Amino acid sequence: MDDCIFCKIVKGEIPAFKVYEDEQVFAFADINPINRGHTLIIPKKHAENIWEMSEEDMQAVHRAAKKVARAIEKALHPEGIACMQLNGKAVNQVVMHYHYHLIPKSADEPEMALTRWELKPGDMDQIKEISEKIAAALS
Ligand code: 5GP
Ligand code: ZN
Repeated sequence: MDDCIFCKIVKGEIPAFKVYEDEQVFAFADINPINRGHTLIIPKKHAENIWEMSEEDMQAVHRAAKKVARAIEKALHPEGIACMQLNGKAVNQVVMHYHYHLIPKSADEPEMALTRWELKPGDMDQIKEISEKIAAALS
């Protein structure tokens, strides 16, 4: 895709701090890191979101994510790593090329808002109804 910033990074038209690359996948440092070591894993082939991703690229991105997460662990010794991926402008997807975030959290870094939410018991009838609706859509 010509006007896609991440496609340009894959093609080397825009610089990036690469941490990993294979035939299907490119991984590089996020330039607005939430924490030290914030890394993005993307498919080389443009796909906007989870619905557009091929099975092969999905597997490749997640295989690479595990590899890079191991490297982050080894290099930075974080206390944990948040893995996150956004689909759609309504959930603040900003770059419309699928990307998987690996966001480590070291001891001296504050707790991230994205990893904390209040646990409020849901409406069991509604949970049942919605999960049945999703399950039915799978068949
Ligand atoms: P999103 O909200 O779409 O999941 O996140 C997009 C991410 O891409 C943001 O964390 C942002 O900092 C990162 N980003 C946007 N433009 C660039 C860029 O040109 N280079 C790099 N390395 N990261 C970028
Ligand atoms: Zn793209």
